[in-house]
Amino acid sequence: MPDNPFLIAGGGIGGLTTALALARIGQPSIIIEQRTRIDEIGAGIQLSPNASRILIEMGFGPALAKTAAEPHRLVIRSGKSGKMIGGMPLGQAMRSRFGAPYLTIHRADLQTILLDAVRGSDTIRLAFGRNVAEIENNGPSSVRIRCDSQSASESVTGAALIGADGLWSNVARLIGDTSKPEFRRHIAWRGLVARKDWPADLPVDQTNLWLGPGAHLVHYPIRRGEFINLVAVTSDRDNEPGWSRTGDPSILQKRFSRWHTDAFRAIQSVGDWTIWSLFDRAPRQTWFDNRVALLGDAAHPVLPFLAQGAALAIEDAHVLSTEIKNKNGNLIEAFTNYTRIRKSRSSKIQSTARRNGDIYHMPWPLSIGRDLTMARINFSDHTSWIYDWQYP
Ligand SMILES: Cc1cc2nc3c(=O)[nH]c(=O)nc-3n(C[C@H](O)[C@H](O)[C@H](O)COP(=O)(O)OP(=O)(O)OC[C@H]3O[C@@H](n4cnc5c(N)ncnc54)[C@H](O)[C@@H]3O)c2cc1C
Repeated sequence: MPDNPFLIAGGGIGGLTTALALARIGQPSIIIEQRTRIDEIGAGIQLSPNASRILIEMGFGPALAKTAAEPHRLVIRSGKSGKMIGGMPLGQAMRSRFGAPYLTIHRADLQTILLDAVRGSDTIRLAFGRNVAEIENNGPSSVRIRCDSQSASESVTGAALIGADGLWSNVARLIGDTSKPEFRRHIAWRGLVARKDWPADLPVDQTNLWLGPGAHLVHYPIRRGEFINLVAVTSDRDNEPGWSRTGDPSILQKRFSRWHTDAFRAIQSVGDWTIWSLFDRAPRQTWFDNRVALLGDAAHPVLPFLAQGAALAIEDAHVLSTEIKNKNGNLIEAFTNYTRIRKSRSSKIQSTARRNGDIYHMPWPLSIGRDLTMARINFSDHTSWIYDWQYP
């Protein structure tokens, strides 16, 4: 491993993509991940064109094509009546308009693609089971960190530290931002159904969004249609910070029992649910300090109601590595530009996602106005500012 690598705290989608983007501009890195192995929960993720474009440009097109699904349209329906409220074409329409596909993929498959590439790289090292616990960030050309593992502590020096350590970022805290994420009174239930257990008359090759009072449901295919991924979100005061836990199916079934039979049967088909309390935070004031910068959820956690959290982390990795290359290694200038470019976009996506939560869960009779408005919206135009993003 060459001297002065970039240190990356966190081996999530943001950290892995950052290491790979840095490798492409000839910069070595060490990924420091607190978990002893990376195993994603059984759930899906939507990869919109703004993110798939970057991954394809990085050479992952064939691997994505092997494992992802590509729903041909989004259908928005009333959770109570089942009536179609709105929607937009995906599939070829997305490729034609944005030059990249709208994919849906199992998180484990995406992670395997990224991890295989990381493991195959000569310039990336993975250090598992280590927690970034302390930072010395006064140097003119390097940063020193202390990593703790179960058995020992060690010091590591690098050119810079990228905090890709997620919602509860310790790196952000260590550079002085002690603000806490805020619970947004939504709980996400995530589950997977094998195609053979999915009601035969329910659609597989499209993304369905069902809206009802105090809840919504999304389902889409993953692994080329072998599984259907479901996310049911309920407005809730219950809150167990951050961590996933097992959900009792009967609670969710009760909550959705008066929904349209198609939505209810979709919920009923899931055996195991995992629950997440949903948090985001006000945009951070500080994105970098000297030789430490934040990226992904560590910088800007987003509620999942626009399916953009991981997409933003992928965009961040692309912009950061491009700026490091453009500034010939002058990291302060690179971090300054990175922050300027990323702050307004991520803040807009954060606030739009939060607003979507309120819109999706509107009670009757407000939902009547919402449905009439949605029926008139051209969603392809309405969302193009998200999907046509490119840099430079
Ligand atoms: C229900 C739900 C559905 C979603 N759906 C979508 C979607 O369809 N599309 C989309 O784009 N996004 C989606 N998201 C958002 C997306 O999952 C996240 O935004 C994304 O995973 C963030 O990636 P990250 O790498 O920034 O952080 P994380 O994935 O949180 O990774 C952070 C890593 O850092 C490690 N770590 C933490 N602290 C330390 C430390 N001190 N030292 C070392 N390691 C540390 C953690 O173990 C973890 O591995 C969804 C989120 C939810 C909750």
